[in-house]
Amino acid sequence: MNEPTAVARRSILLVDDDPGTIQVLYRTLSSYGDVHFSTSAAEGLQMARDLQPDLLLLDFEMPGLSGLEVCRQLKADPCTAGIVVMFVTSHHETDLEVQAFEVGAVDFIAKPVRPVVLQARVGTQLRLKALADALHQAALKDGLTGLANRGAFDAHLAWEWRRAQRAASPMSLLMVDVDLFKRFNDTYGHLGGDAALQQVAAQLQRVTQRGGDLAARFGGEEFVVLLADTGDQAAQQLAERLRAAIAAVAIDVAGSTEPARVTVSIGVATFDPASVEPSVGAAPKPATLLAAADRALYAAKAAGRNRVVFEPLEASSPARLPTARAAPTG
Ligand code: GH3
Ligand code: MG
Ligand code: MG
Ligand code: MG
Repeated sequence: MNEPTAVARRSILLVDDDPGTIQVLYRTLSSYGDVHFSTSAAEGLQMARDLQPDLLLLDFEMPGLSGLEVCRQLKADPCTAGIVVMFVTSHHETDLEVQAFEVGAVDFIAKPVRPVVLQARVGTQLRLKALADALHQAALKDGLTGLANRGAFDAHLAWEWRRAQRAASPMSLLMVDVDLFKRFNDTYGHLGGDAALQQVAAQLQRVTQRGGDLAARFGGEEFVVLLADTGDQAAQQLAERLRAAIAAVAIDVAGSTEPARVTVSIGVATFDPASVEPSVGAAPKPATLLAAADRALYAAKAAGRNRVVFEPLEASSPARLPTARAAPTG
């Protein structure tokens, strides 16, 4: 008999109007994860949306909504499209089987169910799902620091930007750059530098615990923090706390007897939909906010580093995406 693999607890949803089938499936799969069930297609559809199970075992024919329709609706919604759907049915017609695959199911199991075969197939699908989940996570994360990566940040910024406009609430952006980091690397080695970046990331993570906030690695030794529902005053205060917290961290560096320290410069910008004149200049875009934070960061570097600078948004300025920055002299 196939034993479940040692992956995080998975969840399985059974939807079949026949309680006898539910019972057999439940017994067969209870060691494979948390098993939920419904004997109603409409209720099952709602449970799939609420529970977001890894795997859905779906009957073909049910009163009201057909299994095909349930599958079609789940696959059409980005929030539920990732749920793996397997049909379990007493129908054996080839065209039904083809339709099941056409609406996005991955497998088609004939009743009466043979438990060992069902377990083998469910085990395979759960392993594939775990792998897909891990890949999806990895695609959004920065490997060194565990923070969101640039791609995930861009998507989040676009999303929060629209939300801020709908809710007419402000949002702020912090652009954080480690000071004189080239010298830090030269002194403590690249691995020492990596340890410093991890410490900086941990502090960023600490200050962004609210829903809607996101800390990300923008690239190299540059980070960004997006603060939802946060105006300019609160953003500058948070930036100042972050700056001080990072400066206070003692970084353990292999081969060095004394703990190392880094400082950061932080550029702050705020987008407040309530204060944007619709008639004046071009409508600001997410890139406008990034550009303003980048200008503020440059000013912080020029003013001597280890400080926070705020820059107002210029609605009509051409959006300039930050590029590699030359270290200001002096
Ligand atoms: P400034 O205060 O003006 O920002 O000076 P800086 O030295 O920090 O700026 P510069 O852009 O000249 O150097 C950035 C350095 O960051 C150079 C690069 O090797 C280092 N760096 C970028 N990514 C990583 C990384 O992942 N690990 C390590 N250890 N260093 C990195
Ligand atoms: Mg049925
Ligand atoms: Mg730097
Ligand atoms: Mg830099």
